[in-house]
Amino acid sequence: MGHIGFIGLGMMGRPMASRLHAAGSDLIAFDASVAAVHAFGDAHAGAVAADGLPAFAACRAVVLMLPDSDAVEAVVLGRDGVPGLIGVLARGAVVIDMGSSQPLRSRALAERLQRAGLQFLDAPVSGGVKRAIDGTLAIMVGGDAATFTQVKPMLDKIGNQIFHAGPLGSGHAIKALNNYVSAAGLVAACEAVVAGQRFGLDPGVIVDILNASSGMNNTTKNKFKQHMLSGTYGAGFFTGLMAKDVRTALEVVKTTGTSSLLAEPCTDIWNKMEQDLGFTSDHTEMYRYVEGGSK
Ligand code: NAD
Repeated sequence: MGHIGFIGLGMMGRPMASRLHAAGSDLIAFDASVAAVHAFGDAHAGAVAADGLPAFAACRAVVLMLPDSDAVEAVVLGRDGVPGLIGVLARGAVVIDMGSSQPLRSRALAERLQRAGLQFLDAPVSGGVKRAIDGTLAIMVGGDAATFTQVKPMLDKIGNQIFHAGPLGSGHAIKALNNYVSAAGLVAACEAVVAGQRFGLDPGVIVDILNASSGMNNTTKNKFKQHMLSGTYGAGFFTGLMAKDVRTALEVVKTTGTSSLLAEPCTDIWNKMEQDLGFTSDHTEMYRYVEGGSK
């Protein structure tokens, strides 16, 4: 599909762009961090390390892997007098937001792009850094079926479970709701392990028993021994991003008139952890946060 643009070379974007490069895509890569762009260019022969958005003029598709809707709108619509992609791309090009943005803002942005003759898909991912490296992410896509079909061969190079979730915004909505379920399960697992330890059990044994029982979840299986009990806290997903996702889920819960019995306190917990440990603490640090007596 010609040149593919990739903007956002952080924890997730860099390995995802690497997969596209390894699969033979002609890549133009950019990030607000000049160091990240140079590091990517140096490690990927033939990829263009862009110094700004004008370099994307010839791209038929541009992937965004940015922190949130604010960053996506800045890149697409422009900010502080710097023109965005909307003024750079040729008619018919598709912008694919693979970060975890807010679904209603994504829909509004898609309408702006459509009025300018451009296409938009929300296509967030799940699976974390490890699955980004392996090319085995789950990808949930919102947008029209024809555009989805057009970009599917490219998505196949990044993920292996790819869903057309529904119309525009559906991908970002289900991504936020998924992370709410994951975030709530993580807090429950941390509280259970700390309480079990204080009751006298060995934490490794607690995790083994949970994993053989009905309390098993993604945290007990893939995070507890690997990142928490090991004390490494290196899952590669910032607390601030998890807190943002849970806030987005609460927005979806509230705007649909759904009960927020658990979503509300869950959001408070992650907001408080972000405030206390900082945006860039790893989200698995919830274990030591609970252990340390956060109320
Ligand atoms: P990150 O902070 O590591 O990377 C974001 C990158 O975007 C950074 O390199 C930053 O410099 C760049 N950036 C920010 N604003 C920019 C701008 N205006 N123009 C150009 N570049 C800009 O974050 P990440 O962990 O890679 O996450 C990216 C997105 O994917 C987020 O929405 C996150 O919620 C989501 N996500 C993350 C994970 C994970 O495990 N880390 C998993 C699934 C989804």
